[in-house]
Amino acid sequence: MLVKLLRCTPDPELLCAAAALTSTRPEGASELFETIDSKKAAKVIKNVTGYGHVSIIEHATFTFSVEGVSRALTHQLVRHRLASFTQQSQRYVPYDSNAHYVVPISVEASKEASREFGEAMEKISGTYRRLIDLGIPLEDARYVLPNAAKTNVLLTMNARELKHFFKVRCCERAQWEIRELATEMLRQVKEVAPTIFKDAGPECVELDYCPEGALTCGRIEEVQKKFRT
Ligand SMILES: Cc1cc2nc3c(=O)[nH]c(=O)nc-3n(C[C@H](O)[C@H](O)[C@H](O)COP(=O)(O)OP(=O)(O)OC[C@H]3O[C@@H](n4cnc5c(N)ncnc54)[C@H](O)[C@@H]3O)c2cc1C
Repeated sequence: MLVKLLRCTPDPELLCAAAALTSTRPEGASELFETIDSKKAAKVIKNVTGYGHVSIIEHATFTFSVEGVSRALTHQLVRHRLASFTQQSQRYVPYDSNAHYVVPISVEASKEASREFGEAMEKISGTYRRLIDLGIPLEDARYVLPNAAKTNVLLTMNARELKHFFKVRCCERAQWEIRELATEMLRQVKEVAPTIFKDAGPECVELDYCPEGALTCGRIEEVQKKFRT
């Protein structure tokens, strides 16, 4: 999996702080943005989002390239409706059996499971290629492809949606591949917007308890330690 923050709003925290101050100050955001420094911006963001005025962080957006992940992952990813996505098309890019599928760690850990998995992937690739040789278009031949098929996706989320995404997808209850993606995205956005994403991560990081009830992973301290900075 390759995860790369390609672009984000320049000076995301100065911009969000200028947005926050727009509501209470006579100056417009053009002046506020030019005069605020990062220390003041951090204080403003902390206070204003603390009051529940969270929409101010929607002004900062982040665009990631996510490459070499499974279609199982992207099917979950695109459920996040407030994000924008562009995904590699199986109608134009043929599936190639060489390293074109993701092998879950649990499968890799077992010799027998690896063999079964590998054989299934080979069979699928063979059928796919034969269908194409028979003149079946890519858009129809792809119906035999597995959830494991690798894909690339470009996605853009604003900071508010990202924090929501991290709440549900960095949690131990999330599936391992999307959790790995979310955790890496969080690491990268923290470098450019440390105040906005200070308490980001699974819900237990901010709430100090696990809202999953009986479904809790039961390792709250370990999880909090991992995500608290
Ligand atoms: C551990 C886990 C297991 C899951 N299992 C399943 C499953 O078995 N089956 C399944 O179908 N899905 C499953 N999901 C997906 C889940 O139901 C959501 O579709 C997904 O997490 C997107 O979250 P969301 O709808 O909160 O957020 P987003 O689409 O990212 O939206 C963010 C927030 O905006 C608001 N919002 C967005 N759209 C609307 C709207 N139309 N109306 C009102 N408010 C809106 C909500 O407050 C929402 O939380 C699972 C998710 C997780 C994390």
